[in-house]
Amino acid sequence: MSSLAPFSRRQFLCETSRFTALSALAAVVPLPAFASFRANIPAINQTPVEDVGYAAIYKISDGHYATISNTSKGFTTICNGGFLFGKDAGLLIEGFGTPAGARFQFEAFHKLAEVAPAGALLTHYHFDHSMGSAFYGATGVQFWGHAAVARRMTDAYVALQGADRAAFLASLEKHVREAKTDTAKQHAQSDLAAFGNIFDMANKTVLAFPNRPLDPARLPLQLDLGHLPIIIEHYAGHSGTDLIVRSPEHKIVYTGDLLFSHAYPACFDEQCTMPGWRNTLKTFASWDKDTTFVPGHGPVCGQEGIQSLRDLFDDLGEQAEKMHKAGVPVSDAVDQYIVPDKFKTYPIFAWGLCIAGAIRKLYAEMGA
Ligand SMILES: [Zn+2]
Repeated sequence: MSSLAPFSRRQFLCETSRFTALSALAAVVPLPAFASFRANIPAINQTPVEDVGYAAIYKISDGHYATISNTSKGFTTICNGGFLFGKDAGLLIEGFGTPAGARFQFEAFHKLAEVAPAGALLTHYHFDHSMGSAFYGATGVQFWGHAAVARRMTDAYVALQGADRAAFLASLEKHVREAKTDTAKQHAQSDLAAFGNIFDMANKTVLAFPNRPLDPARLPLQLDLGHLPIIIEHYAGHSGTDLIVRSPEHKIVYTGDLLFSHAYPACFDEQCTMPGWRNTLKTFASWDKDTTFVPGHGPVCGQEGIQSLRDLFDDLGEQAEKMHKAGVPVSDAVDQYIVPDKFKTYPIFAWGLCIAGAIRKLYAEMGA
């Protein structure tokens, strides 16, 4: 795995300059600010080793780094990522929202590591993690992902390329027009903006699929990066294509979107499963109490971040059950969820993708 020669900086910049124009497109995506690095893990240095505003890179432990996006300062990376390296090779995590985002992390990796990346691992197919992946095609870095990623990206994003924007957004525009309350109208408007921007991103982006598909039936995959054993595993919950990277000796886990840290989780995916996701979080909670989690969005956290997301799922479940018992139809229930005070500071990417998606799934489980 260490056979790939590292790129020289000059060669690298030449290969990547063509992608810079794409970074501008993400500036139109309306996202809440995922800004802070981490809550309360005193052993980790709060000062980033690299900081470009829209993202910063923090050292978690020897050979373990977290790339944390700050969407209040731009949408080049959008999601979090990171990288690990041992004595022989490294592993980059995520393709990010734009190729410029992937390039930022790749360049930081080469400043810090003296080995080549064995690959870049996509944690799941969603646009904010995958749309920068074409960058890897130009750099010769092997691109790893769940075996279903190519099909899911084709269905979700290739299908939008060249499609009729107005037709794609028609039903969402209807929701805005026919909203029964101001709250429902605001939710519908946030969904319309989010889907409009996803449509535009898909139409402006060179989409790339993993050239090293990982069959979940053959996971976990154990690798040694050179005195650094890591494990790649698949868990159910967020998207049906979710992979995590675990470094057991350092007790560090890169979770992708199976963990939204101090933020509302995106529950819209057709393969998102609420019981499956809650079960996965239960597994994460069973790991060592000193485990450090690098989430797909939000600050790096310890077990308290897992507990907080489990509490949030409990609240979604309790409110859905209460509305269901009271006979509130699902079409109204999706707008009637009330954000409790303790989650008021949690960013919501788009109401429909996060909360309405969760309520719909919970209603379906209750037989509605
Ligand atoms: Zn996601």
